[in-house]
Amino acid sequence: MDECPRCQGSLERLSLGEASTVACSNCGYADIPVEHDRPRDEPESWRDALNRFYQR
Ligand SMILES: [Zn+2]
Repeated sequence: MDECPRCQGSLERLSLGEASTVACSNCGYADIPVEHDRPRDEPESWRDALNRFYQR
């Protein structure tokens, strides 16, 4: 999974310790397996998730 399903751009791979996810910097798409059914409409939602992970 290296292409964004939305814009076919290149996905960034992000590592969160034991978990990892991918995000698109072009359109803001993010796949966050560590969160349960988070809405993906907000471009910044994955950043919020990352911040919460680091601040726990
Ligand atoms: Zn994209």
